[in-house]
Order: sequence, then structure tokens, then C-alpha cells
Amino acid sequence: MKRRVVILGGGLAGMAAALRVLDAGDQPVLLETRAQLGGRATSFQDPRSGELIDNCQHVVMGCCTNLLDFYERLGVGDLIEWHTETYWANPPHEPDVMRPGFGPAPGHFTFSFARMSFLSWASKRAIARAMFKMIRMGLAGRAGWSDRTFMEFLEETSQPPEAIDRFWRVVVVSACNLDLDEVGAAFALQVFQEGFLAHRFASAMGLARVPLSQLYDPFVEYFRREGGQLELNTAALSIGFDGRRVTGVVTKNGMVEGSAVIAAVPFERLARLCSDTLVSADARLQQLDQLEVSPILGVHLFFDTEVMTLPHLVLPGRSTHWLFNKGTDAQGKQHLHAVISGADEWMGLDQTQILQRVLEDLVWALPAARGLDPIGHRAIKEKRATFRAVAGVDRHRPAVTPGLGVENLMIAGDWCDTGWPATMEGAVRSGYAAAAAASGGSGEVADLPGSPVGRLLGLR
Ligand SMILES: Cc1cc2nc3c(=O)[nH]c(=O)nc-3n(C[C@H](O)[C@H](O)[C@H](O)COP(=O)(O)OP(=O)(O)OC[C@H]3O[C@@H](n4cnc5c(N)ncnc54)[C@H](O)[C@@H]3O)c2cc1C
Repeated sequence: MKRRVVILGGGLAGMAAALRVLDAGDQPVLLETRAQLGGRATSFQDPRSGELIDNCQHVVMGCCTNLLDFYERLGVGDLIEWHTETYWANPPHEPDVMRPGFGPAPGHFTFSFARMSFLSWASKRAIARAMFKMIRMGLAGRAGWSDRTFMEFLEETSQPPEAIDRFWRVVVVSACNLDLDEVGAAFALQVFQEGFLAHRFASAMGLARVPLSQLYDPFVEYFRREGGQLELNTAALSIGFDGRRVTGVVTKNGMVEGSAVIAAVPFERLARLCSDTLVSADARLQQLDQLEVSPILGVHLFFDTEVMTLPHLVLPGRSTHWLFNKGTDAQGKQHLHAVISGADEWMGLDQTQILQRVLEDLVWALPAARGLDPIGHRAIKEKRATFRAVAGVDRHRPAVTPGLGVENLMIAGDWCDTGWPATMEGAVRSGYAAAAAASGGSGEVADLPGSPVGRLLGLR
């Protein structure tokens, strides 16, 4: 007999859970408070430019096996454009290129890294030493760093200031959304171990060729056709609890009953949906107030001429971290997107101040752009972009599955204890795991296999 599973939140975690519940033969009811799906990874119609633009550039990496599985399942895998090369601005010279060479992982970047000229040889040697330590420590060694910051790791491996400012900071802040002296070392170590060293394809960068919201159109079609119930513009107001089990979800239209509930809403929202009795029955709900957020700033820039030919640029040592080339239209108008992660100090700036600072960085990276003014711009501040991945935070991230808690309440979202930083991959992993707990099925998809050389060296 089909069980009814109520899922709160139509972000990636909620959609991934809903799809798997449906595939397992149960009946999912997906409640989303907004008019569209996608949560923090979505698009909107910009009233100024009239364009459908993403709230921010979202990058998927080759190691994101669960997110890629989700895209494939929706039939949108070919809407992701892959880049195996990464371009690092190095003015006044041409940008450096980091690309996998012929050697096997984890040494596949050695040749191109050695040739990159934006770092001195002393920095490159120090970085190689730190990478070797990451390989040798393996997964077990990483776990031992959960309560320490990544800056402590950099100090322990004697990284020179240049390597810290021009290499480590931009990679780690972009991936973990927090600066080096706050971010938990285990998060940063995971980025390098899983995202660069474990497999040749792990670091490949995937960018959607279409606005993010269009990736979810097939979800809506498939979900409704196969009997899923999708309720947009419907906020969950509270989670029903009979003292032993959750019974469903209260909305403005009344109670939506279910045999299980998957709560895939942000942590501060979940806290508001739970009664005191529910909180006291489930230890996972008792530490939600320990989690904090970290902001990201995305700046859309429109030029009436082509300013940048490369697909993207990393800006080492600058406060703007990435520039993405979003394409040039038939009239020659180019759309660029600048991303600043860990953007606490930018949150108090207005649109003009933000534009000024980003343009300084853009002209630094692309000197030919000097004197060119954008014909339009739009800065989007996401103050609650991700949970704050500080050292030790994992002990406050709740498990997806109940354990000793309320047996039919699953929690999903990038902020759960997924073993990943706050990413789309983490969100989908949590959704898959929640669906497996509610309806059965296979749960998470396996990681990319580790390379034989990596295994031999102890990586995993
Ligand atoms: C600016 C920015 C840039 C990012 N860049 C990247 C990137 O490059 N790569 C990457 O992997 N990740 C990136 N992320 C992180 C990524 O967007 C998130 O990890 C992911 O989208 C989280 O999905 P989620 O389903 O866990 O949560 P959310 O997307 O927050 O989904 C939760 C949903 O619940 C809904 N909701 C809330 N309250 C209720 C309620 N009471 N009832 C019903 N529904 C409710 C919300 O409207 C929302 O749709 C970025 C995030 C931001 C903000």
C-alpha cells in the first residue's frame, strides 16, 4: 500500500527526496512556500534588465555524484557545460591555466601547476607539501581536524603568506564560504581530498547552460504526471506530533496527514515549525540555534561590448573571487557575473559601492576593460547563503535519519550532517538519504572511485 510522505521545502533537498519517494512507490506531497522550486539555487526575472537571471552562479563539480544523478534523472544532464581547465588571472600576463595532465590522480595537476606563474616556486613547493600531507592523512586523518581551523593546518604545514593569500584563500573561501581563520579544517581538507586529489574528473567544473530554474521544469512535469502532489505557495505552519510520531503538517488549508515527514527547510524555519514537545522528543532538534549563517554576494554586470573571452577567471588575492562569462548576445551585449563568498564585510555596502569595488577587481584582472562602464548591473546579497562552516560545527548538524529521535521524522537540507559543506551536492545527498529512510530505496549514490595511486598512498 502506498504511504503518504509529506515533504516540506522545494529546494534541491526536498525535490531529491520527493523524486526518490515517488520512485519507491509511495505518494509524496511536496509543500513549498514560494511560487517556484529551487530554493537558494534558483533564478528570477530581473525587473531592470528583463532577463531571467540566477540569484548567483552555482558551480557543480565532477565529484558531486548525487547532484549529477539527480540532473540525469530529470534528463537535464546535458544542460551542464563542463570545464576541466581553470583560468587564474595573472596580470599583466595572460591568465595561468590549471588543467589535468596525463598522469594519474592525485598527481594529475602536477605539470600544469608547476607551470603556473602567479605563484613563486617557494609557494608552489609549500602547497605541494601540504597536498601530500592531505593525501597521506586520508579520511581518518581529516576527521581528526574537525575541531580545528584550516588556518591552523596552513600554519602547521608552514605555508608562506603568498601561498595563503593567492591560492588557499580563494579556493577555500569559494568552496566553504568562510575565511581561513574560521572555517573548519575538515571542510577545507575534504574539498582538496575529494574535489581535486581523488579522481581526475573530480575537479571538473559544471555550469548550467540555462537559468537554474529551468533545470527543474522537467521535475514538475514528471512529478505531477506520476502522481506526486506539488503544492506551491503553501507554507508549512507547524509539524503535527502525537507525542510519539509526527502525524503530518499544518498549512493554511488545514492538516496534510502523512505516515512520515521529511523537513527540507532551512534550520531557522524548522525551529519555528516544531512544538516544544516535539523538540524535547528529538535531540536532533535541540541544537538548531547553534547554527549560524554566512553570506555570498553575486553581482551581475552587463557591458555593451565583449569584455572577457575566457569562460571564467579566478582572481587570486582579490576580494572578488570569481568572474563568470555568462555569454554575449547577438547585439554584442555581454553578461558577466562576479562572485564574492564569505561576504560579511560587503553586506553593509550599497549597489554603487559594490559596483565600484567589483570594477576595481575586474579591471585588475582584465586591464583592457579599463574605462568601460557597465550598461547595467545588479548585486544580489544572499545574507543566509549557507550555514557557517566553522570548526566544530558538525556536532550541531542534525542527522538526516532519526536514530533515537522521532522515528518517522526525517530532516534534509545542505545544513544536515551530510559530511559535505553547504552545497547542492550536500542537499541532494540529504534528500536521497531521507527518502531511503522514509520509503526505502537505495539512498545516496557512491562517490567517484578513488584512483589506484591515491589508494596506494592512503588517500581513501
Ligand atoms: C549565493 C549562493 C551561491 C551558491 N553557490 C553554490 C555553488 O556554486 N555550488 C553549490 O554546490 N552550492 C552553492 N550554493 C549553496 C546551494 O544553493 C545550497 O546548498 C542548496 O541550494 C541548498 O538546498 P536545500 O534544499 O538544502 O535548501 P533551500 O534551497 O534553502 O530550500 C529550502 C526550501 O524550503 C522552502 N521553505 C522554507 N520555509 C518553508 C515552509 N515553512 N514551508 C514550505 N517551504 C518552506 C524555501 O522556500 C526553499 O525553497 C550557493 C548558495 C547561495 C545562496
